[in-house]
Amino acid sequence: MAKESKRNGRKFIICEFLLLLIIIGSASLWFYYSNKKKDLEKKNEEINIEYKGKQQEYETVEKELNELEEKLKSYDNLDGEITKVKKEYFNNIKKLEDEILAGTSDKKIAYLTFDDGPYYNTHKIFEILDKYDVKATFFLTNINGENCFDKKSENCYSLYKEYLQRGHTIANHTFTHGIFKGLYNNPSTFMDAVNKQHEHIKEQTGGYITNILRFPGGIPTAKAKLGENGFNMVTEELRKIGYGWTDWTAENGDGKDIQNKQQAWNMLTSYLNDNIEVILLHDYNSITTSMLPEVIEYLQNKGYILLPLFYESNMINK
Ligand SMILES: [Zn+2]
Repeated sequence: MAKESKRNGRKFIICEFLLLLIIIGSASLWFYYSNKKKDLEKKNEEINIEYKGKQQEYETVEKELNELEEKLKSYDNLDGEITKVKKEYFNNIKKLEDEILAGTSDKKIAYLTFDDGPYYNTHKIFEILDKYDVKATFFLTNINGENCFDKKSENCYSLYKEYLQRGHTIANHTFTHGIFKGLYNNPSTFMDAVNKQHEHIKEQTGGYITNILRFPGGIPTAKAKLGENGFNMVTEELRKIGYGWTDWTAENGDGKDIQNKQQAWNMLTSYLNDNIEVILLHDYNSITTSMLPEVIEYLQNKGYILLPLFYESNMINK
């Protein structure tokens, strides 16, 4: 009996020990896995935070990219925007012209125009115009090729871009200007010289398209040389290619044989009676260069606004 109870006691101890082992083992396992779970949860949270951060970064970059793309699009459309602003500006001046001509505005406009350039002397004209912040119109010809007026100074083709960079308007005065050298032989010789200069301006400026023309010698010369019919055929052709043409309402005689500044001054001021004037000058003439500051001041004092010409103007025949 005592032996049996001893055996039972040992059995009990072994059972207790095994139970303890199981409890300890389970507790260790539970502890181990709960720690592991915590680690995993922590890692998961860290990954989540990192992911959210990256997502935010990605969204910021994407937003920046979209903004850049929009900016690039607006640059693509810059030419279009400039054309739009220019059109609006010229439409407003056209309205002002209409009011002046109708007598409902007391404003005055003078268009300074310089024929036969480019010349080496054009730089001096640029400086004077810049000083007074005046924009003008230059009727260009290729009469001397790439050489300037004196045929020995710098290459004048570089000036084509400069006219535009300084805000002036370039217009067509034919490629050859050959009034006595076949320009007006017939409508097609004339139109060839117009088209050639149109392309030349485009080439030298990197794409500028003009739509204003001045006939070398003026409209009366063109009519006399081409005949009434020939002249009408030419103007019909000009309309077809979207061109307008203009003469002038005032001049200082610098393309003729004026002898001195006083004579040029007297001639010019005697013409200035209208509220819209197109003034013919030549940038090669030193008399013109020397009197230009006084001419600008005189016009401004008389209330004239000095502007570059544009196709829609009432002063352009179409
Ligand atoms: Zn000319």
